[in-house]
This record gives sequence, C-alpha cells and structure tokens, in this order.
Amino acid sequence: MSAARRHKYIFVLGGVMSGVGKGVTTSSIAKILQARGFTVSPVKIDPYLNVDAGTMNPIEHGEVFVLDSGLECDQDMGNYERFLDTPLPPENYMTSGMVYKHVIDKERALGYGGKCVDPVPYICEEITRRLKRSQEKTGADITIVEIGGTVGEYQNAMFIEAARILKLKHPEDVLFVLVSYLPVPGKIGEMKTKPTQEAVRTMNSYGVHPDIIIARSDRPLDKKRKEKIAVSSNIAAEDIISAPDIESIYEIPINFEKDELSDRLLKRLRLRPRSTDLHEWRAMVARLQKAREEMPIAIVGKYFKTGDFVLSDVYISVIESLKHAGAAQGKKVSISWLDSTEYEEDSSSHNEGKKKLKELSRYAGILVPGGFGERGVEGKIKVIEYARENGIPYFGLCYGMQLAIVEFARNCLGFAHAHTTEIDGNTAHPVIDIMPEQKENVRNGKYGATMRLGAYPAELLEGTIAHTAYGADSISERHRHRYEVNPDYVERIEAGGGVFSGRSPNGVLMEIFELPAKTHPFFMGTQFHPEFKSSPLKPHPLFTAFMKATARESLKKKR
Ligand code: GLN
Repeated sequence: MSAARRHKYIFVLGGVMSGVGKGVTTSSIAKILQARGFTVSPVKIDPYLNVDAGTMNPIEHGEVFVLDSGLECDQDMGNYERFLDTPLPPENYMTSGMVYKHVIDKERALGYGGKCVDPVPYICEEITRRLKRSQEKTGADITIVEIGGTVGEYQNAMFIEAARILKLKHPEDVLFVLVSYLPVPGKIGEMKTKPTQEAVRTMNSYGVHPDIIIARSDRPLDKKRKEKIAVSSNIAAEDIISAPDIESIYEIPINFEKDELSDRLLKRLRLRPRSTDLHEWRAMVARLQKAREEMPIAIVGKYFKTGDFVLSDVYISVIESLKHAGAAQGKKVSISWLDSTEYEEDSSSHNEGKKKLKELSRYAGILVPGGFGERGVEGKIKVIEYARENGIPYFGLCYGMQLAIVEFARNCLGFAHAHTTEIDGNTAHPVIDIMPEQKENVRNGKYGATMRLGAYPAELLEGTIAHTAYGADSISERHRHRYEVNPDYVERIEAGGGVFSGRSPNGVLMEIFELPAKTHPFFMGTQFHPEFKSSPLKPHPLFTAFMKATARESLKKKR
C-alpha cells in the first residue's frame, strides 16, 4: 500500500449461523460506500475445497452464478453485481480449493525453493496475494471481503488469520464487520444476545475484534439489548446496527443509512466522503414498494424441494430479474414453483394430467429456467407445449430454450421423437446436440469449468422481438451449457415458422429462438442466461419484454 493512496479493506464475517443475509449485507455496505463516491469492490471467499462452484449440485449450493470471464461462483457474486451495477472480475472470488491448489501446484514446481510449505504462513500469504491482485485489477479504493459461513467454522481459520495479519500491518486501513444473528426463541419470546456475544469471543480468539456489528433478526434490536452487546463485547452502542427482516433486500442500504453507517465506516477508515448519491436507488426502492398489481408467474423446474423445504435460492437471479422488470412497470411478481415431474404422463392419469395442464391458464407467464439431466424433462416439454398452444407468454432460459426447440420439432415439424442428445443419445432427430469439443471433455471426465462459459457476443436479427427489446444489433450475454441447437436442423426449424433472432457472429450457434408476434404473444428462449445481467436499476431487456407481454395478456383476459 503506497502512502499516497491507501487501499482499504473491510472484512465481513458471520456470527451464530449462516444464511442470515451476509451476502446482501455485504452488497449493501458496498452500495452505501459506492454512493459516497468511492470505487468499491466486493470479494467473496468460500471455505470449501471445490475449486469453483461449477461442479456442485444446486441443492447443495444454491445457484451457480457465472461471471463474464466464465468463472462459476457463488450466488453472492450475483448480489454484488446487482447492487453495484458493475460486472466483477474472477479475481473477486476465491475458495479454499483455489488457494490450496495454487500453493500445491507451486510447491510441485519447486516454487518454494525447498522450504517446508506449512499452511501458516503460505496459505495465508496466498490469500493476501489474491486480495491484493483483486484490488489492483479493480483499482478499488475499498475492497470488501466477505468470508462465507461463520467465524466458528474451523475451515475459515486461514482466511481470518490472513485478515488479522493485514490489520496488524495496516491498522488504519482494515475494518471488521460482524454480521450476527439474534434469535427470538418462540417459547421465550425475547431477543437473545448471548450467541452474538459468543461470536465476538470467537473472533477475539483469532486476535481480531469487530468494529461494527450488524444485528440481524426478525425484528429491530432495542436499546437495552444494544447496550448489553456493547458492554459485553467492548464496542460502542452506535456501532451496533439493527438490521431486522424487511420486505425487499434493496431497502437494506437505505436502512443502513438511517443509522449513518457509511459515515461510521468512512470515519474509521479515515476517508472523507466525496458525495452522497443514493437518489436513484431510493427512487427504485419506492417503485418496488409501490408496485401492487400482482403478476402470477410460474417457474417450472425440478430443483425446488429438499425434504419439506422449497429451495428458491437455486433460481435467485431469475427471481430477482423478474422482480426488477416487474417493478419497473409497476407490477409485483408473484411466483409459483411448479414441479415439472407432476406434468408427466406416467405420474398421473391422462385426464388428471390434462386438468393439471389446464390450471396453467391462471398464470400470466411461464418460465422454464436452466437445468441439467433427465428428471422432469418430459413434464417441462408438456408445459411448453401448453404455453405455445394457448398463447401464454413463455420464456425459456438455456435448458428452457433447448426444450422449447425439442417441443417445436416434435409438435410443429412432426419429428415425433426429436430430443436433445443429453437425454437420448440415439434419437432420430437430435435437434439439440453436444459440440465436438464438449464431447471430448465429457469422454475424458473433464467436467470442471469446461462448459461453454461466460460472455459471448451475438448478432440480432432485425424485425424480431429480441431486436426490438434490446434496441441493438449486437449483444453480449453469459453462457453455461454443453449442448447447442444442432446446425443441421436450423433451416427446417425456420421453414416451420421458428425464428432464430440471435446467433453467434459466425452464424453457427443459435442464441435466441422466438415465435413471430403474429403467431404467439411472446414465446422466446435464450441459449444464454440473461438473468445474470439484470439489476434493479437496469432490468434486463428480455425480462422487460416478457413482463410487458404478461401484463398485456392478463389485461386482455380481464376484458
Ligand atoms: N443441460 C443443458 C446443457 O448443458 C442446459 C444447461 C443450462 O440450462 N444451463 O446444454
């Protein structure tokens, strides 16, 4: 760190339990500091040994978010990008796997010159090197580092140790924020502070102390308990910020500013605010709160259930994108999760299956998101057929596009057994097929980070719904898939009335499929994942087009 311009680091740690909104808290802190005129760069650290998030089952991990670079990472990266409206580089994500792999590879290459490579200090040094590399890449004034999980987790020790050393070397430039949970046990009916006190003590055992505590709970923290934590944890009461549950995550930055959190952070970092501009953000939140008219949207997939719980986290970017586009049009999106296996013929009698399909008419729009593998595929195809035949606005993302093509080939082109070779390698009509280089990867068991990943350009066809929605001739969108529309079928699909409104610049890969406006109110599928590029201040143009179509169609139904 040069004396002329010092780089600041804020470490965000979790107390008591995970899943209480550390990611959106980190995003919100980043947002309020960005609004004070600083370049802010959030970094996510995940303690697991997977080198990236790409090989994990969504039920284990939630959504796999994809950066422009193609790095498959944690969904919190999506939160950061949505809050800050900035694409983040791969340097802003690290896992224990990534760090250890680098150190071990370096050791194998004699990179440590014959030393005994102990985790301390070498793993810690590698962590710090990565943090500095991220700072250099982004040129950030303030790097905010979120360490996944909680302080009590053994596997976080190296990361906290690296943070401690950074603080030791640069005491004025490093801050610690503890995001802790305060339970209100049902029977007792009182907010309990003891677990948070324990979390502070655990931090202390690493040699670090929180500068700020964000008190997460289902209700606000009262004065009495604030003082209790203050006294027991040796921290000023004003530095304990109440963060109760709220309706929309986008309100959090505004709530933090009610407690003047950015002032507090900047004072401790010895930075003078350069501006205050949450203006646009406040207007967006007001729009979100005002949006009353409900738009019922069905998301049809398979990853939703684990035991008795529905895991909507798997599709967090899709949900947020729908909300962004809805709110901009004064609509409140209400999502129903439909399990695609329930639409399959063998799961119900023929008549029952038909009845279930008919119930789809109550939705203003249907969306089939990305997915992998066989389970529920025939059900998704049935749902897509129903949406196409009954003029229900349909939006298919990645797998949702591929299956729309399968449906179209089967029912509009008469290729009864058309399929994707992901499911049926021997189909007579492989309308969706694996690319040769992908076949090689799979044959060699190379699954990690080998899909078509990250940002690719596409050219749009004039006069199409996609072209109008984007208002542009070329676009860049993020991908994550192995299969593609089979080029051998493109002409036949077009002859049958399908339109490929987006293609790769060399014309070989089909990126957007749609039906002309004269045959369907809105029927579109994208090979890419538009949901990775929507933010509340800039809803994605295709989600906007989809939501506009749903609003139009439900208005027609009412008349
Ligand atoms: N399973 C499909 C593929 O690999 C779609 C992937 C996805 O929806 N992200 O091509």
